[in-house]
Amino acid sequence: MKVCVVTLFPEFFDGPMQVSIPARAIERGELRFDTVQIRDFGKGVHRSVDDTPYGGGAGMVMRAVELGRATAAAKERLPNAPVVLMSPQGARLTQGLAAQLAELDELILVCGRYEGVDERFVERHVDAELSIGDVVLSGGEAAAFCVIDAVTRLLPGVLGNADSAREESFVTPRLEHPQFTRPPVYDGLSVPPVLVSGDHARIDRWRRKAALLRTLQRRPDLLPEGAMSDDDLDLLADDRDPVDGWLQKPRKLESSS
Ligand code: SAH
Repeated sequence: MKVCVVTLFPEFFDGPMQVSIPARAIERGELRFDTVQIRDFGKGVHRSVDDTPYGGGAGMVMRAVELGRATAAAKERLPNAPVVLMSPQGARLTQGLAAQLAELDELILVCGRYEGVDERFVERHVDAELSIGDVVLSGGEAAAFCVIDAVTRLLPGVLGNADSAREESFVTPRLEHPQFTRPPVYDGLSVPPVLVSGDHARIDRWRRKAALLRTLQRRPDLLPEGAMSDDDLDLLADDRDPVDGWLQKPRKLESSS
């Protein structure tokens, strides 16, 4: 897959693209990554790319002319890529959307800054808008990296164990079961005995039940009416190998004020 990011801060990606999964994907030739520096298309000696908003108000808006040229340069490199603008007003990124993006051969991600971009740029150049959540970042770069990371790990041959992408949270619309590793006792807490039983059918049942209960507790919105199968209902009724001890509520940050 080829990804081109249109940005005022190409150096933002230097670190993140050099570690772990994205780095491995690039090394294996599964991912090609490059950037277009919007400022290269900027106006005047200062290479300016933004201006005050029509109608007044705070902050600066990225101009359509320069953004349009920068995006056209990305499009020249990747003619078949959809142009996706990172925006808090876009469709929320989900695992399902990441899987759809991972099917593409080419992708262009455009990063806004300041108060955002001139709407006419969106009208003329943008195929889709994508948000990473209901929160406002200072720029699209961190959001674009979230997209790249989520998509890259789904590319064939990138993750070491193909199963690890299949069994995770949201792949089936539920959260993953809790995980444990050595040592067997940590600070007085033992791992659930079933996980060291060696009985794979029992382990599988425990994990599916834990996943289901966690989802019901933390994210019931993922399991609307009718989303549970007969198999799921059987699991909930099954009281062998209790899960309860591991169903603590997700911890919330308390505001200090
Ligand atoms: N004034 C805009 C926010 C601008 S934030 C508004 O209220 O909608 C500046 C840039 O950061 C945006 O253009 C976008 O590219 C990026 N950005 C901010 N929050 C984001 C989010 N949740 N998801 C994706 N991109 C985001």
